[in-house]
Amino acid sequence: MTRSSRSSTARSPAEGAHVASPGRRRGAESGSESSAATERQFQGEPVSPGFAIGPAFITGEDPTPEPDNCRSTLSPDQERERFSEAVGRSITQLTKLRGKLALLPEESQVEIGPLLDVYQRMLGPSRLQRGVMSRIDDGLTAEAAVHDETEALARVMLVPPDGEKLRGEDAAAAERRAGEFREVGRRLIRNLMRTPFLALGQFPDGAVLVAETLRPADAALIDPSRVAAVVLENGGTTGHTAIMLRALGIPSVIAVHGILNGLAEGTTLVIDGDTGRVICDPAPKTIRQARRHVSAYARERQQLGRLRRLSSRMASGEKIQLQANLELPAELPLIAQSGAAGIGLLRTEFLFINAETLPDEAAQYEIYSGVVSAMGSDPTTIRVLDWGGEKQSEALTRIGFSGDDEDNENPALGLRGIRLLLLHPTLLETQFAAILRASAKGPVQVLLPMITLAGEIVAAREIYERVARRLKRKGVEIGDPLPPLGAMIETPAAALTAEALARYVDFLAIGTNDLTMYTLATDRASAEVASLYDPLHPAVLTMISGVVTAALHERKPVSLCGEIAGDPRITPLLIGLGLRSLSMTASAVPRVKQVVRSSRYEDCHRLARRILAETEGEEIRRLLEEFREG
Ligand code: PEP
Ligand code: MG
Repeated sequence: MTRSSRSSTARSPAEGAHVASPGRRRGAESGSESSAATERQFQGEPVSPGFAIGPAFITGEDPTPEPDNCRSTLSPDQERERFSEAVGRSITQLTKLRGKLALLPEESQVEIGPLLDVYQRMLGPSRLQRGVMSRIDDGLTAEAAVHDETEALARVMLVPPDGEKLRGEDAAAAERRAGEFREVGRRLIRNLMRTPFLALGQFPDGAVLVAETLRPADAALIDPSRVAAVVLENGGTTGHTAIMLRALGIPSVIAVHGILNGLAEGTTLVIDGDTGRVICDPAPKTIRQARRHVSAYARERQQLGRLRRLSSRMASGEKIQLQANLELPAELPLIAQSGAAGIGLLRTEFLFINAETLPDEAAQYEIYSGVVSAMGSDPTTIRVLDWGGEKQSEALTRIGFSGDDEDNENPALGLRGIRLLLLHPTLLETQFAAILRASAKGPVQVLLPMITLAGEIVAAREIYERVARRLKRKGVEIGDPLPPLGAMIETPAAALTAEALARYVDFLAIGTNDLTMYTLATDRASAEVASLYDPLHPAVLTMISGVVTAALHERKPVSLCGEIAGDPRITPLLIGLGLRSLSMTASAVPRVKQVVRSSRYEDCHRLARRILAETEGEEIRRLLEEFREG
């Protein structure tokens, strides 16, 4: 990043995202605060909570050095050697960065650690390495070979071989993956050209970093103790930069269109990372209010850090189990640090998603047993493959498993989850065998995705028990008694028949991400209908309540592992609906625990009863807000 030449004292009065300024109104009302007249408000996407005030430090994207001479005058061996040295230097830099991780807040470690793993894997014996070597053999310089190869890999990510346009979560994932290739490419080229990484050397402590865009690698290098906040003109809320900023705990707002328009270096900014509001040249009254928010936020963070070792017991004595969802094994050490009491949902899709061949029993066992052992006496709930819908796997497609064929206009309503597994039982057998073997290492539960019929559970249990018998016959050690088998309740069919289903399983896990999608007929990955996707819709809440009651009748444990489990604003409602076990993204555990510890069951119960009587999502949100404010 370099300082850009954008700094200017000119002010443009006409910003695209400039919204009505209450500061100006307030100033006019009081009549005494003349600088309120210059206050300007912008609205962006909030990506990392917190309040901050500081002078703007405007930075521009440092261009990647373009390799200017593509044909090498050196021999391929010499270029290969240069490339290997650059790889070595890049790995050393990433290792140093990893060393710094321990100094960052836990949430940062959870987010950044896996990304560094990805970069380091790419620098190992990978497709990227092979591709670069082959381009060097064709006579290119190492710089040009790296540039061309990482660009080619990024393009493959963005444009699937079938030419179909990616949408929603798939498009965001492809963007991220393409960004990872480009980022590794930039690092290698810098190291080949010996162009130093630009640090925020001139950054004044306590300033607000304002930029058009920010690369994840640069975001990872930000020292959160020096940067008050980050404001970006571009960016998406699911991108790695946003994830990093969230993880670093830096109040951040992105997609603030027009913010750089005429913004002068040093202009005072107020940033509200909870609402996405950015105020330039705040009036004295606005600054005073913002200062109060800043102090309150700093106090909150300190308290959260202390929560890790404290129990998740309510003020009225009830124990609430708070567990973590795990997407990648790399997150594992950080889950333990979050204070989570086990893994409530291990999504096994990561084993298949980028695989060219199917992971066999041994490969799966290695992963599952590693996780189970690391969790010690805390339980691990492993969900069997939830494939189908928009997801694609070369390994699965190659051998004929596809949840998304051409005849299927509604992949989310097609061969998803358990349907696909029962159609291809060898896949399920292999996974069950690996999980059962891992269950000898510690407490495990097994979860079946996308259940709509009791018959699916019966069929899966038959396979489960058959695999267990076979392993025992062979003298293979497995958990004794057999790990409990549970069902995801994530379709309206399952929610409405939960009591009957509960008779066939040992536990239930409510998946509100899909339950919301299927109940509201609203694609969870579509931006077009994002405003209709509401897990607090009365229909969804009624179903959650019904499932909890059904589980209670059948005396079966029930948990909730959709995204709302990690939203502390919703925690009192979920507890009031009768849930005693929530599983969420690891970084959310402390905030949720804080709410649990400060709430009384009776109050939560009363809140839930009131909310269940409501018909409007807006009113439900208002009641939650009112409860939060006490
Ligand atoms: C859910 O649907 O709520 C869930 C937890 O499963 P996933 O997000 O993996 O579909
Ligand atoms: Mg689901």
